[in-house]
Amino acid sequence: MALFGGQEKHNSQGITVGGLLAGAGRRLLDLLLPSRCPSCGDLVPDAAKLCAECWATLSFLSGPACACCGFPFPHDKGDNVLCGVCQAHVRQFDRVRSALAYDGGSRPLLLGFKHGDRTDLAPFLVDLLHLAGRDLLADSDLILPVPLHPRRLIRRRYNQAALLAAGLADKSGLPWDGLLLRRVKATTPQEGNYSARQQNVRAAFLVAQNQRERIEGARILLIDDVYTTGATLQSCARELKKRGADRVYGLTIARVVRPGMI
Ligand SMILES: [Zn+2]
Ligand SMILES: [Zn+2]
Repeated sequence: MALFGGQEKHNSQGITVGGLLAGAGRRLLDLLLPSRCPSCGDLVPDAAKLCAECWATLSFLSGPACACCGFPFPHDKGDNVLCGVCQAHVRQFDRVRSALAYDGGSRPLLLGFKHGDRTDLAPFLVDLLHLAGRDLLADSDLILPVPLHPRRLIRRRYNQAALLAAGLADKSGLPWDGLLLRRVKATTPQEGNYSARQQNVRAAFLVAQNQRERIEGARILLIDDVYTTGATLQSCARELKKRGADRVYGLTIARVVRPGMI
């Protein structure tokens, strides 16, 4: 796909050359070595595809859920019903959906993708996002990844959310931009409850000065890997709404179903 075929195009968009080279090296290895399940390491027929056992451990969030944040409900409560957290807090984002529960099934995939240079997992994860986010994609004008602070980008070599956003743009035909939204505050790793996380990421994001007119009246789809309390998406959405965005949606690979689990 063009995500890896046109690497130069994305170099300045939150995906560094080092990160791409690491991914390219791994893909070369994939051609030479037998394919292994990215989760458990067993041999599989296709690279970056899970074995049947690991696939069966994934918990897909396709059932009834909070109309705003996507928190799964055990049974259908009807349309437009909000979870307790969304009832108690003003949400800046309009709707968030996630493909999987963040649990023992999805964790190895996400940790490998985020910290283990497993950029080869991107096409598989993009497929999951595309499926879970089809309604949001149909109502969006522009895809934006949740940005990393430049210092963290250098350390990690690639922004995993930018890889997902680029892949999803390829698949959906929507434009994406990895530079429009900037992380201007180096936040500490997210810990603690909703309020602590809110405080941690407050005013951490800024729309680039020369890009502000692109936001006015736009419907934005934010991409991140994991939704924990929603504090990061909330902070991004606050900045985007302040700049005139009409709607802000969020789409993540996984979400924590019980806050405090990680
Ligand atoms: Zn496996
Ligand atoms: Zn909710």
